Amino acid sequence: MGGLLSLGNLPEPAATPSVELSEDLGEFARAATIEEMVRLGREVLSDPTYPTARALARAGRGVVGCFPVYTPQEIAHAMGLVPVALHGGGENLEINHADAALGSFLCSISKSTLELGLTGGLEAFRAVVFPYICDVSRNLEGIFPRLVPGRETFMLHLPQNFHTPAALPFLVHEYSRLAERFRAAGGSPLTEEALASSIELFDLQRAGIRRLLSAKQGERPSLSLSESYVLRRLGGLVPRELHVAMLERAASELEHRARPARDAIKVLLVGPFCEQPTLELLDLLEQVGCEVVDDDLLQAHRWYPSVPPGGSALERLARAYVDSRMDIGVRATPTTKGEAILSRLDATGAKGVVFLTAKFCEPALEDVVLYRQALDRRKVPYLHLEFEERSTAYEQARLQLETFVESIMFD
Ligand code: SF4
Repeated sequence: MGGLLSLGNLPEPAATPSVELSEDLGEFARAATIEEMVRLGREVLSDPTYPTARALARAGRGVVGCFPVYTPQEIAHAMGLVPVALHGGGENLEINHADAALGSFLCSISKSTLELGLTGGLEAFRAVVFPYICDVSRNLEGIFPRLVPGRETFMLHLPQNFHTPAALPFLVHEYSRLAERFRAAGGSPLTEEALASSIELFDLQRAGIRRLLSAKQGERPSLSLSESYVLRRLGGLVPRELHVAMLERAASELEHRARPARDAIKVLLVGPFCEQPTLELLDLLEQVGCEVVDDDLLQAHRWYPSVPPGGSALERLARAYVDSRMDIGVRATPTTKGEAILSRLDATGAKGVVFLTAKFCEPALEDVVLYRQALDRRKVPYLHLEFEERSTAYEQARLQLETFVESIMFD
């Protein structure tokens, strides 16, 4: 692999930083309203060089990158590190080098993550965790140490058979190995007390995220999809203490916040659990008359409602993952997919499903087949769109979405 892509001097950065934040990220503490938080979040997301991670690293904090979909970030936090969700480079990152190391028919998040690594865009990260969610993430973990040296990388193996008693001890062991890597990346020793208190903090964050999600349901949703998304996305980019405080401010504003009533069709947004669509595409969904009442975006915060009591903190964390009812493409539960989508429709009152899958994302595409069988049986309308990080032209998607919405409205 070393000969496949030979980098003498580091190439020119793929993107120039456009947002500089203060080392204490006080900008987020000062954002008093949802509008201010979302404006700040949109700026941060437009800069592919991870401005929050850079600011934290300047302040001497140990930042660890967590590739989607799931890493037990509580462990990093308990060891004094800051876990940052590593969701690729987004629409403003040009790919000039990663194509030489990765095949053409791969999702964009894999290429943009590697591009960032190859061009110095991940200097703020002391370690990167790749959960074994698919062949692409598995291979990235293999490529990174060779092509992007200078930081710890770790492949997190997650169990796929949740009915065997071996799943829990296996995962506890895997989490202990992860903690060893975090130690090598400068983390403090992992203690029972510290992990229990980090779990408590992350449970608060999960509760705050649930409140945001419930604001998208009901007859008059008080948040737009992109507002809900940006507020959630910040949860993986700033220290969790800061995010919990932001969620509390957002929750009190939501109690009396009203958006104008609009004629829209309630839909589920299914598929974008790893690579993320652009904000423009999320805005488009609502512009054409969809009201997204539940979605697959950023599932890391929703894997379980809270960590159950009983046992050591590491066991509790592992049990939460094993017992999770999460049913998306990276969990091998093929027989329950149909039921899962139908019960989401029942719980939210959605009238249709928009599948929004990253191009070449096999786990998401395989799920679509299983979901469609269940939807066809119940005659629920659906539309399937594909996206890439650098998608910019949405004329065709707009037309397809408008036709889909009209077909439900005038049915
Ligand atoms: S977008 Fe899909 S294929 Fe790509 S890394 Fe994520 S899960 Fe794997």
